[in-house]
Amino acid sequence: MTSQKHYDIIIIGGGSGNSIPTADYADKSIAIIEKAKFGGTCLNVGCIPTKMFVYAAETAENIRNAKKLGIHATVDHVDWQSIVSRVFDNLIDPIAESGAAYRRGPETPNIDVYDQHATFIGEKLIRTGNGDEEVIISADQIVLAAGARPMIPDYVVESGVQYHTNETIMRLPALPKSMLVLGGGFIALEFSHVFQALGVDVHLVNRSAKLLRQLDADISDRITDLTSKKMHTYLGQTVTSLTQDEHGVHAVLSNGQTIDAEIVLVATGRVPNGDQLNLAAGGVEMRNGRVVVDEFGRTTADGVFALGDISSPYQLKHVANAEARAISHNLLHPDDLIAFPHKHVPAGIFTHPQIATVGLTEEQARQQGFDITVKVQQYGDVAYGWAMVDTDHFAKLIADKATGKLLGAHIIGPQATTLMQTLITFMAYDIDVREAVRTQYWIHPALPELLENALLGLDFS
Ligand SMILES: Cc1cc2nc3c(=O)[nH]c(=O)nc-3n(C[C@H](O)[C@H](O)[C@H](O)COP(=O)(O)OP(=O)(O)OC[C@H]3O[C@@H](n4cnc5c(N)ncnc54)[C@H](O)[C@@H]3O)c2cc1C
Repeated sequence: MTSQKHYDIIIIGGGSGNSIPTADYADKSIAIIEKAKFGGTCLNVGCIPTKMFVYAAETAENIRNAKKLGIHATVDHVDWQSIVSRVFDNLIDPIAESGAAYRRGPETPNIDVYDQHATFIGEKLIRTGNGDEEVIISADQIVLAAGARPMIPDYVVESGVQYHTNETIMRLPALPKSMLVLGGGFIALEFSHVFQALGVDVHLVNRSAKLLRQLDADISDRITDLTSKKMHTYLGQTVTSLTQDEHGVHAVLSNGQTIDAEIVLVATGRVPNGDQLNLAAGGVEMRNGRVVVDEFGRTTADGVFALGDISSPYQLKHVANAEARAISHNLLHPDDLIAFPHKHVPAGIFTHPQIATVGLTEEQARQQGFDITVKVQQYGDVAYGWAMVDTDHFAKLIADKATGKLLGAHIIGPQATTLMQTLITFMAYDIDVREAVRTQYWIHPALPELLENALLGLDFS
């Protein structure tokens, strides 16, 4: 028999959506529906475990590169199973389980958890369940936080080959000897880096001629160049045939080249999950595959909000978190809504080298008609860069001559994601960098001198 229940609020998705019910929600009845694992993509199969693998990969890479510093060392053995166990058995899985237990436990008596796929069956009416028991629930307000899933190209599905995605690749029972990676975005590149650094022979196939092609052209050119020196890259190519036998997978590319590899990883983008929610029944519109939201996170259905990858063009965890904070406020304060903070959204890419980016590319700034000044500062031209014997990496700043404000910043090199934070602050607080560069100290001879010199190199005359 199907049971029915009414709530103040239903949240679909236990990733970023799980952070909405704060202590301010103690007097609200809430249903959280999570069909897989609490913590969502970021905790279980995304940001956090990938960076733990990246850290191990980085260590191996540094050992191999130490020769240029006069340190002769080799990576003797990679204990893949101990890396996997440290990441998942010791950390990720227990955190996900305790997150679900907390929401089901006595500390949040106002919250019910459902663990079956949710779909709309009417306005503010959802079908879900607990185990085998089907449940119909309704609410005054609903939050869609159902995220996105890996996009699998038709030719991969039709080929019938067994493939991996970010959801399975980090739990392989053993390191393969070789891997075919499909895609040229940040997920494809981060995994390529990890597996290449851990000793796998990586073959990276990308439809476009450049990797990370949405980034500033200088950054995209440099990562394309550096990646092509480290692993087999097949750029501007599509896969015309994909087959599998007892030896592994075999691909034929549009230029006739062939690739044999033990396994294949598909990392060709992510599809928002709105198409699986029967949104039309709830009066929720989608456009370009994403749930349509206004600046306050309101969908086209009254009382229904959305956040994160299901609606956001950014598909980044810090954006999903910021949107969840705004919606957490907006649900309780419909007359005093907070807008999503989308002005200067940064992104970090944990490849080797790291990449960080915020604001406009040089091309975008020119297209938008700004009178710009641009400075490209090499790591190798500051003292810490000398210590690192760095020859490949740089920071690129784009500023508005009229106001002294940064329009965009792009860094490719060691610690790029950490270095970027100062520039994010300048942009978030609308700081005139002509003053800021001189009103603060820059520790000498630390790596942030890269930014000091880049800022001093901007020509505002
Ligand atoms: C490999 C990888 C690495 C990444 N690295 C980074 C990074 O370094 N930095 C960064 O900022 N971002 C990163 N991201 C992106 C980041 O993980 C996402 O932007 C973020 O997790 C989105 O959060 P969300 O809450 O919108 O969705 P999710 O975290 O995906 O949560 C959605 C939840 O909804 C559940 N769900 C879906 N449909 C239903 C349904 N119908 N019924 C019930 N439950 C449902 C899902 O099971 C899921 O748990 C990475 C992503 C991947 C894949």
